[in-house]
Amino acid sequence: AAPEPGPPHPEIVVDLAAVRHNVGVLRAQVAPAALMVVVKADGYGHGMLEVARAARGAGADWLGVATLEEAAALRAAGDRGRLLTWLTVPADDHAGAVAADVDVTVYDLDQLAAVSAAVSRAGRPARLQLKVDTGLSRGGSTAAAWPALVAAARAGERDGSWRVTGVWSHLACSDEPDHPANAAQEAAFREAVALAEAAGLRPEVRHLANSAGALLRPSARFDLVRCGLAAYGLDPAPGHTPDLGLRPAMTVRSPLALVKQVPAGAGVSYGHRWVAPAATTLGLVPVGYGDGVPRHASDRAEVAVAGHRVPVRGTVCMDQLVVDLGAPAGAPGARAGDEAVLIGPAPAPSAQDWAEACGTISYEIVTRLGGRLHRRHT
Ligand code: PLP
Repeated sequence: AAPEPGPPHPEIVVDLAAVRHNVGVLRAQVAPAALMVVVKADGYGHGMLEVARAARGAGADWLGVATLEEAAALRAAGDRGRLLTWLTVPADDHAGAVAADVDVTVYDLDQLAAVSAAVSRAGRPARLQLKVDTGLSRGGSTAAAWPALVAAARAGERDGSWRVTGVWSHLACSDEPDHPANAAQEAAFREAVALAEAAGLRPEVRHLANSAGALLRPSARFDLVRCGLAAYGLDPAPGHTPDLGLRPAMTVRSPLALVKQVPAGAGVSYGHRWVAPAATTLGLVPVGYGDGVPRHASDRAEVAVAGHRVPVRGTVCMDQLVVDLGAPAGAPGARAGDEAVLIGPAPAPSAQDWAEACGTISYEIVTRLGGRLHRRHT
């Protein structure tokens, strides 16, 4: 049979059936806790609106995003389900979120005042979730400030300004299941919830766990877990996560723009950080750091051509990178137009392989990919 033609242009292909499958697996795994699928940062590079629709279709109880702008985009696209935001700046206007029934997170009295002002303008009560810092030292109320925040939130609930729908926190070391911070944060969270309930709050959902917490620490599931990475089929804690059959949703592939020979001694790409030790066949992949491929992948990452892993040679450029088609177990005979798979099912590298090659995490690899790459959902 003739080989499959390569893609006409560099592209990201997102398999929404994989997202639906993963959401189903996660729901079953964490039940009776509910599932929030985190779709911020353009769905970790997979497309926020498309992933949101797929996740809802597969039974995601909640969606989570960072910003009010992301929430507004979801509502504008017709999403009507439970939706939580958690990152605002003082200049943000919460009125749109209140009017659109978005659950907004607050963790200090100034944020509470901003929501109060928005409630007056929107003419309807808000849904509020209170976030407590249990040890990440990022967003969230300190333990010291928590009683005052809870009291103010309860007062606003009494006067009809809002309903406190949730109390939550976020783990710092969930990908290291034996790290003592996990148990410490869980204990601090239980205390914070107890204090809130003693003050009369009756949150619908108490939640702490992200993907790794949800999969590795059942006691951290509470009423709801917030899964991002695992919903995209990526492993949140390599070496620790049990095999649940999650399916990576993202494939990144490109035609080779050019195949050519260079002689022994040819320096390849900017700075000549790789010099061909012998006559070599090189392939040009028209994807670079302008499309989100880390420059740190220079001389470290691999791609697949014709079912073989071939190494990236020399510096990753803004628009292109060079691969060695003649390397041992390479792909001799490759031609311009043939497909290079940067991320995909084996034998292609995974996002985790790229992360390891680049000294980062798979979150960063997939989230940064985009730029000029065409993105297609199947
Ligand atoms: N919850 C919050 C507050 C987050 O910021 C994130 C993402 O970083 C998540 C949950 C999802 O994390 P993960 O992708 O590890 O599941």
